[in-house]
Amino acid sequence: MYQDTLLHIDGTWRSGSASETISVINPATEEVIGTVAKANESDLEEAVTAAHRGFLVWRKIPALERARVMLRASAFLREREGKIARLISIEQGKPLHEALNEVRSAAETNDWFAEEATRTYGRVIPSRGEGIHQFTVREPIGPVAAFTPWNFPTIQIVCKMSAALAAGCSVVIKAPEETPASPSELLQAFIDAGVPAGAINLVFGNPAQISKYLISHPLIQKVSFTGSTAVGKQLASLAGLHMKRATMELGGHAPAIVFADADLDAAVDSLSSAKFKNAGQVCISPTRFLIQESIFETFVERFSAKAAAIKVGDGLTSGTMMGPLANNRRLEAIDAFVSDALQSGGEIRTGGKRIGNRGYFYEPTVIANPSNDARTMNEEPFGPVALVRPFGTFDDAVQEANRLPYGLAAYAYTGSAKTAAAVGSAVESGMVSINHLGLSLPETPFGGIKDSGIGSEGGTEGIDPYLSTKFISQI
Ligand code: NAD
Repeated sequence: MYQDTLLHIDGTWRSGSASETISVINPATEEVIGTVAKANESDLEEAVTAAHRGFLVWRKIPALERARVMLRASAFLREREGKIARLISIEQGKPLHEALNEVRSAAETNDWFAEEATRTYGRVIPSRGEGIHQFTVREPIGPVAAFTPWNFPTIQIVCKMSAALAAGCSVVIKAPEETPASPSELLQAFIDAGVPAGAINLVFGNPAQISKYLISHPLIQKVSFTGSTAVGKQLASLAGLHMKRATMELGGHAPAIVFADADLDAAVDSLSSAKFKNAGQVCISPTRFLIQESIFETFVERFSAKAAAIKVGDGLTSGTMMGPLANNRRLEAIDAFVSDALQSGGEIRTGGKRIGNRGYFYEPTVIANPSNDARTMNEEPFGPVALVRPFGTFDDAVQEANRLPYGLAAYAYTGSAKTAAAVGSAVESGMVSINHLGLSLPETPFGGIKDSGIGSEGGTEGIDPYLSTKFISQI
């Protein structure tokens, strides 16, 4: 049921020209379950030239027809959601119900962009002279290089590919080598829906080699990357060197501020579900829990009880609430973050160690009072670790929330409309969700400030980076 994954270049599924492959591991069992083909430079050259030809075909297809093709792809995704979700769960580790939600939101996001295809309006600008017509048109920017990570193997591609296709662009996707089969099934839905050869290409291989080749290629006009801040900075500088537009969706370190007047049950319920979703491997995962002093102990107790009750297991086993970490790198990183936090004075309230010795399982972990010097209070943990600290005043909370160079997501809970408005405005973050979990919908912008990135995916903002504005003045 788990098949080896090939490259998709110019409308054909095929091996890399050097016939090299990379092993794929099931993170719940550590078994090798298949392979993914590795592209070399000649494969990449073919992918880019195919994307250029595909662009010339796809951009001429009227927006309404492009939208119809994309909506057909959504229908295939919905028809195949069970199969795709199982692949996600097997290669990435998340529980099946989370994987199903991912495929459903991939279809919904694709629907949103399909509809946006028909709304890329220009405008008419009143002229200074009689008979002069001044107007703008929005044109697709050209072939796109898109780099996507393993935490959400399908939706991360849709956020880029569907926006590009809606705008009339073609795309070369470098999808994650750790989780290649679900991206390949995702692509098949678009191929079956009638996206022409060359308009979408899928490659895997050595990430650094591929990004260097694609970003510097003269036929590539736009770069979009989701992943760590460190890699994002390298790719953004390469894009700058070659004058390519770049969207960077990078790391975060989300503060979750709970004021004493908050509905505590609602805060504990929603924050615990957000923290341990996808084993914490989510860029908008709440990470620094800042709890007002008078409710600190009660919050820690209730939150830790929720965390301790989470059933961890193989994503395919019914009843599993949290799967393994996606790869051994994360397991090692979380282990190191936790021991460092303990050495710097943090106290484990629940969890704190690996589960068993087969599969990358880690306990849902709550650390109270870690010092601000602990590494994980400064670096994104990207795992099932909640760091909880008390604060005194509103200003103390905001100062801590804004301490780090990240600015992706922030959360706040309060019973006061005045505090809600004040915190929404004071927190330096691309997105703020107050008294509920309201981020990451197809129709709302998703993006960070500071070291968390450049630009937005989602909402009307999501298609803009794939369009250029042409001004025409005509008599
Ligand atoms: P990493 O920094 O090595 O890789 C992150 C992603 O970037 C992977 O998908 C990888 O294939 C890709 N990548 C790495 N080097 C690249 C290069 N030179 N060119 C193009 N792509 C490249 O880290 P990792 O161990 O895979 O993940 C851990 C860290 O990555 C996390 O701590 C988190 O900060 C970040 N991450 C963020 C997201 C997100 O949604 N923003 C998703 C996955 C990982």
